[in-house]
Formats: sequence, C-alpha cells, structure tokens
Amino acid sequence: MKVLLTCMECLQENGSRDFRPVVVTVNDERFFKMTCPNGHQSLTIIQQPKHEVLFELGMNALVDGYPREAVTSFASCLENFYEFCISQVSLDKGVDRASLDAGWKYMAKQSERQLGAFVMLWLNYFGSAPTLLSDKSRGFRNRVVHQAYIPGLDETLAFGDDIVACVSSNLRDMKHHLGDGLDAIFTSEFIARASSQNQRVTTQSIPTTIDWAGLIQNETVNLRTRLEDIKKDKVIFQWPKF
Ligand SMILES: [Zn+2]
Repeated sequence: MKVLLTCMECLQENGSRDFRPVVVTVNDERFFKMTCPNGHQSLTIIQQPKHEVLFELGMNALVDGYPREAVTSFASCLENFYEFCISQVSLDKGVDRASLDAGWKYMAKQSERQLGAFVMLWLNYFGSAPTLLSDKSRGFRNRVVHQAYIPGLDETLAFGDDIVACVSSNLRDMKHHLGDGLDAIFTSEFIARASSQNQRVTTQSIPTTIDWAGLIQNETVNLRTRLEDIKKDKVIFQWPKF
C-alpha cells in the first residue's frame, strides 16, 4: 500500500502551489526516509495508530480485488486495536512501561489471552464489558483464516462493517470515561514512536477509513463509498504499483 506524504521544505518554499506528494510504501514502523521530487530529504512518521493502517490495507486489498486478504487485514486490525487499548489505557492509568512489557510477553503470541485481557481491562477501568465481534463475524473470519474459504465482496464488506462498529463503540466508550485523556493517548502513542528514533523527525497525518477522531463523533463510515474514494486517489496521483 502506498502512502502520500508532503515535503515540508517544499511546502514552506512554495505553499500548496505545484504540490506533488511524496509516495512511500507503508511499513511496520510507519516511519519513512523520504526524498521529494525536488531532492529534499526528510524523516517522517505518520501519526495514525497501527490498527487504522491495517484496516486501510484491507480496503486497498478490496480495491485491488482481493477480499480474502482484506479479511485477514481487517481481523488483524481488530486484534491490534485490542493491543493498543490494553497498552495505552494501562499506561494512562499509571502502569509503568517495564511492567507492561513484562506482562505483555505472557500474551503476545496468543490472541485469546489478549482478548481476555481486553475484556478485563474494560471491566476494571470502565465497569462494563466491551463490545466484541459478533459470533457470525468470528465464524466468518475463522472460515477464511483457518479453513481456506475464499470470500466474496459483499460478505467481506459486512465483516468490515462489524469491525468498524466494534472499534467505534469501544472508542466512544473510552471517550465517555477518559474525556480529553483519549486525545492524549493517541498523541502520546505517535510522539513515543517519533522519540524512539533519536533523530529529528516530522510527523504527518494521513486520511484513514476508521480515523478515531471521526468515529468518536459518530461520523458515518460507508465502506463502498470509501472504496470509490481510494480508487480515485489512485487515478489522481497516478498511484504507482509494483
Ligand atoms: Zn521537497
């Protein structure tokens, strides 16, 4: 998946005139060494949390005609969202990083343990059970991931809708209990990634389908409309493929 970024030096010199995006390939760290069309070099981190990028990978897989790959990315998105919540809410509540890392290693490789930790996190801090994926969607995911089922577009979009509903419901729950603390959680997550580079980096935001700020404001997410938008992006920017 390609990501379009801005060269800040070009922006300062020319404003938005003659804007040409820098096209980079998404990676696990969401950290990019960029050289713009005018030769400026810079280091950039995108602010979006990993689960938003994973969902976007799924949307791009659908645009390219691969529903099966979309299902696995959507499923990874939700598991990573659980991990994000476990880590960031724990840190926000005063757990230190070393203790968190020591505890996480007991569940890092087992998604069912992470799911249990996520449920207990909600019960302990928010006093209620979180919203989880429906049984129908869990069954669908398992057929795709474990039984080699090749899904169609409509059922993959329905699965994506369920993922969106699950993430947005829990985010609104967090906003209700944490208030502005939720904004601080998202900000501190990408600042920590930027700081870990030990060099001067810029941070930029990219548009995503499940942008957290939109979800907590109850913005409607229409996956079919979003697929058309992603197709148009590819045409407008002559999105390269390889
Ligand atoms: Zn430049």
